[in-house]
Parts: sequence; C-alpha cells; structure tokens
Amino acid sequence: MTARIALVTGGTGGIGTAIVKRLANLGHRVATNYRNEEKARDWQQRLQAEGYDITLVKGDVSSPEEAEVLVREVERKLGPVDILVNNAGITRDTTFHKMTPQQWNEVINTNLNSVYNMTRPVIEGMRERKWGRVIQISSINGQKGQYGQANYAAAKAGMHGFTISLAQENARFGITVNTVSPGYIGTDMVMAVPEEVRNKIVAQIPTGRLGSPEEIAYAVAFFIPDEASWITGANLSANGGQYMGW
Ligand code: NDP
Repeated sequence: MTARIALVTGGTGGIGTAIVKRLANLGHRVATNYRNEEKARDWQQRLQAEGYDITLVKGDVSSPEEAEVLVREVERKLGPVDILVNNAGITRDTTFHKMTPQQWNEVINTNLNSVYNMTRPVIEGMRERKWGRVIQISSINGQKGQYGQANYAAAKAGMHGFTISLAQENARFGITVNTVSPGYIGTDMVMAVPEEVRNKIVAQIPTGRLGSPEEIAYAVAFFIPDEASWITGANLSANGGQYMGW
C-alpha cells in the first residue's frame, strides 16, 4: 500500500487510538489532535513505548479557527493530508424535553460542525492532488435513533448526508468519502454507562458482546487502499448485527 499522511481526530480516545495504530501499522504517517497537554503526553509516551511515532497537534475540532490551525500545523510537520478520519465525538445524553441549549450545541458542534471544520481545510488540496480519503465515524444511533440521544443521533445522522453529498462532488477528483457506523464498543464512552444498562445493550447484540476498537479500525482501513477507490458514499455498519438497515 502507498504510504500516505493521515489525520485522525480524537486519536487519543478508545476508538481513535486503535485507528491511529492500524494506519501506522499499514505504513502511513499519522497525526492526531489533543486538547489536554498532560493527557496527551501520557498517551504519546504509552504509544512510543509500543514503537509508534505519532504526531500530536493541539486543537479543538469544534472551533473552525482551531481546526484550520490544526490542519496547517499537521501539513507543516508531515505534509499535505491525504486521509482524514473525522472520529472525535462526545455525548451529552438526556431526554429531549430536558435538553439544554448547551447540551444540544456542544454535541452538534463537536460531532457534526467539526466535520465541516476539519474537512474544509483539506478538501481543496486533495482535489488538486487528485487523491483523498475522508472517513466519518458515525454511530448505530445515527441510523436507528436512541432514547436520550436526540442531539447525538441528529449529529451522527447528519454525517451521512454530508458523506453522500461530498462523495458526489469529489468522485472525479480521486477522493472517496465514506462513513463507518459502529455499534456499541467497549471504550470509556460505553463503560461509563451503568452496568445494568450495559447488560441490557449487550442482550440486544446478536454476537452477544460489545465490539472492540480494533474492529472499527479494521473497517476504517478497508476504505483506504487504491483497490477501494470504487467505493464512495458508502456507510459500513460494524455493530455485531444489532442494526442491519441502512
Ligand atoms: P472517547 O471518548 O474514548 O474518545 C473521544 C476522542 O475525541 C478523545 O480523544 C477526545 O479528546 C476527542 N474529542 C472530543 N471532543 C473534542 C473536541 N472538541 N476537539 C478535539 N477532540 C475532541 O470516545 P470513543 O473512542 O468511544 O468514540 C470515538 C468516536 O466513535 C466518537 O465519534 C463516537 O461518537 C463514535 N462512536 C463510539 C461508539 C462507542 O461505543 N464507543 C459507538 C458508536 C460511535 P479529549 O481526550 O481531549 O476529550
């Protein structure tokens, strides 16, 4: 596989770390963002001990200004971004009738507006170079909805509309745009859910277990090689069979 330059947002998180490692193992040069210096230092030391050399750049993806600076800094350190994985995300769960504007806006800004903020500064360069990969990490809950997650489901469903539009606009430029929709993965985000609720979730998954971050990283990597260049505007569900619709 040709070595590329990849930028994975939220790469220090559970799924992000697995994506970063998988892309690095495939020979790509990988960068990610951080917000908290101390957390980032610990993460980088842990990965260095495992033999990974990942470029870390500070930046909040919910801010258009910071996202642009973040992209330019990655370009300065590594070169033009060939692969963008929009993975950073948060939850602020509550039923809609109790949802504050802050809970709504934080999730929309971090999970959906970030996709604009990060993709806008890289897309023109990809078009000029006639090669690019833009991959969104959405969610099963953007496909089927989820009690207590109107904000999150709206943002994650929005990623699909973005993906299929951007895919059409850029297909002639060697750029593919796809989405991976994970089901429930055993990261901090899901382990923070009370155990009894988690057990009920697992009972709904045909495979009878939570997914692993590595299984999502595998799905992301699937879209990258030149052999995958006919696959654009797709949504790849990786959810243990919990939801089999679109
Ligand atoms: P984590 O909470 O483990 O990681 C989230 C990452 O996103 C962290 O690195 C975090 O950085 C970063 N991040 C959050 N907000 C921002 C921001 N404003 N700017 C920059 N970085 C930010 O989550 P997961 O690994 O579990 O989730 C990764 C993605 O997968 C998310 O988009 C999530 O919605 C999606 N997903 C997860 C599922 C699961 O079961 N875990 C299921 C379906 C989808 P920091 O450390 O600074 O907070």
